[in-house]
Amino acid sequence: MQDVSNIYDVIIIGGGPAGLTAGLYTSRARLKSLLIEKGFSGGQVMTIEWIENYPGFDEGISGVELSQRMERQAKKFGLEIIQGSVVEILPREEMKKIVLEGGETYKAKAIILATGANPRSLKVEGEEKYRGRGVSYCATCDGAFFKGKKIAVVGGGNSAVQEAIFLTKFAEIVYVVHRRDQLRATKILQERASANPKIQFIWDSLVEKIDGKETVNSLSLKNVKTGEASTLDVDGVFIYVGYNPNTEFLKGLLRLDEHNYILTDEELSTSVPGIFAAGDVRAKPLKQITTAVGDGATAAVSAEKYISQMKK
Ligand SMILES: Cc1cc2nc3c(=O)[nH]c(=O)nc-3n(C[C@H](O)[C@H](O)[C@H](O)COP(=O)(O)OP(=O)(O)OC[C@H]3O[C@@H](n4cnc5c(N)ncnc54)[C@H](O)[C@@H]3O)c2cc1C
Repeated sequence: MQDVSNIYDVIIIGGGPAGLTAGLYTSRARLKSLLIEKGFSGGQVMTIEWIENYPGFDEGISGVELSQRMERQAKKFGLEIIQGSVVEILPREEMKKIVLEGGETYKAKAIILATGANPRSLKVEGEEKYRGRGVSYCATCDGAFFKGKKIAVVGGGNSAVQEAIFLTKFAEIVYVVHRRDQLRATKILQERASANPKIQFIWDSLVEKIDGKETVNSLSLKNVKTGEASTLDVDGVFIYVGYNPNTEFLKGLLRLDEHNYILTDEELSTSVPGIFAAGDVRAKPLKQITTAVGDGATAAVSAEKYISQMKK
């Protein structure tokens, strides 16, 4: 007799807001659902100190609490969650097979990819050497180590500016180093950052090297307009220069755009029937928690439809 313990209607890969919402919807639809997460439920949200733009929480909510609430809510309706890193998908017609690092396998009628994205590195000398010793990609995780210190935040988008403001809680001064002469961040964040006496902007500048001894001591900067080189003394640097989608294990399986984000249609179907994508991992104009949860719901309903058509 066939062992059905590893067989599901839907398997969701990734436990950020997109994956947890997909799991909430598929479980409430009474589909046997499994979510596989390689780290912690919540994904990037676990690294956000305070969230002000998620509707329903008018006073704001911490990233950790929102993650825990989303996980609890999905589990309440029967979503199973296991820890594991998916390394391969074999997309057979009837049952798709998922392989985890270590060789364990699971099967499902439909798959929802919600593997999100990871912060991009600067790819400069010293970045790898001082990672965890002054170089960080997570202000919530590491900000408290920089009490009374000088730090730099690299980037000019929402994440960079939001986290620079947060870091002023600890640091004596926060330099925002940006390669352009204006920020990309939303206006309210720009206004708050400009009004914050602990934040200083260094415009038109690229970080060329991260220097130090045991830990970070300084950054070598270059002004892109004048070509002038300078040194900025800092004890740490937080890097927010964009993201790379977690699609390495999907190459050759389905259609990706030129930046390796998954291409989907309106129903969030990928180029492989029965495989759907939701959240930051897919090509779309706005990558936020609100859009990730919307995607999770859409992908779940599309997976449900796909399964009911299979039965016919
Ligand atoms: C510093 C920072 C501040 C932010 N602030 C805000 C904000 O204030 N408001 C807002 O709306 N948004 C904010 N965002 C963006 C928001 O966090 C993301 O848009 C959202 O988390 C995307 O959700 P997701 O589920 O698509 O992906 P993610 O949150 O990236 O989750 C993906 C999950 O998939 C897992 N995974 C990846 N590969 C595999 C694999 N092969 N096998 C198993 N699991 C895998 C990962 O471990 C991760 O947990 C912020 C992001 C950052 C980094």
